[in-house]
Amino acid sequence: MKRLLKIWWILSALGEGFFDLIYPSNIYCISCGNIIDDSRPYSLCDTCVRTLKWANERTCQRCGKILQESYAPDLCSDCLKEEHIFKRGYACVEYTAAERDIIHSFKYKDKAYLGRNLAEILYDRIKIEEIEFDIVIPVPMHMKKQRKRGYNQAAVLAMSLAKFMEVPYGGKILVRVAETEPMSGLGAIERKNNIQHAFDVPSDKKSDIAGKRVLLVDDIYTTGSTADSCSSALMASGAEEIFIITFASGANLINGEGEMLN
Ligand SMILES: [Zn+2]
Ligand SMILES: [Zn+2]
Repeated sequence: MKRLLKIWWILSALGEGFFDLIYPSNIYCISCGNIIDDSRPYSLCDTCVRTLKWANERTCQRCGKILQESYAPDLCSDCLKEEHIFKRGYACVEYTAAERDIIHSFKYKDKAYLGRNLAEILYDRIKIEEIEFDIVIPVPMHMKKQRKRGYNQAAVLAMSLAKFMEVPYGGKILVRVAETEPMSGLGAIERKNNIQHAFDVPSDKKSDIAGKRVLLVDDIYTTGSTADSCSSALMASGAEEIFIITFASGANLINGEGEMLN
């Protein structure tokens, strides 16, 4: 099955001319870079598999953040305070140093091919959680930023995932209409204000999501302000409900303090 997925991905990636296929991504661990054999799941070596903080125990029943053992509620501290527009969020790992390094390689070091490995991780999470949806949509990047970076990492993830899931990919349905300040260093309220009206669905695309269950895809989930802003635009255009899945999610900040991500 893995081999089939791989062949399928390579053929479709060639068709889209999207990735640098010369790099043999399955020979090196995607986290530490050590040589591995290509049977390792997600192209992670055994050490890195153990280092990543997987969301395989208690998670927030709303946004999907990992909950500490000592923390009693079923909702994280953010979700206890505030409602979300999306219905349910899921994350695969918590954003600590190892996860940050993988995301940074994927985002800033032109390693778009990592999207396939990360999409496999997302795929397994979806299967475990039995999430049901009709269309996969990435959190869009502003065109200017995308031109500069060369690709939108959320779109690379979403595209691979849609193929694995055999579900339509809606890469042009949600667009970023406002250039926003970088989110790093912003608090929760500033993040919300920064991103509130940043997204829209073009009028000729509304029929594509009317009555549909949307799976929104991004690399990191922090406070949910981006996910909510996207969800609001999608819901206003007739989507039925929104789920969000990200590779990593920020920690549940019990005392309301801590480093903001992105
Ligand atoms: Zn490794
Ligand atoms: Zn939560």
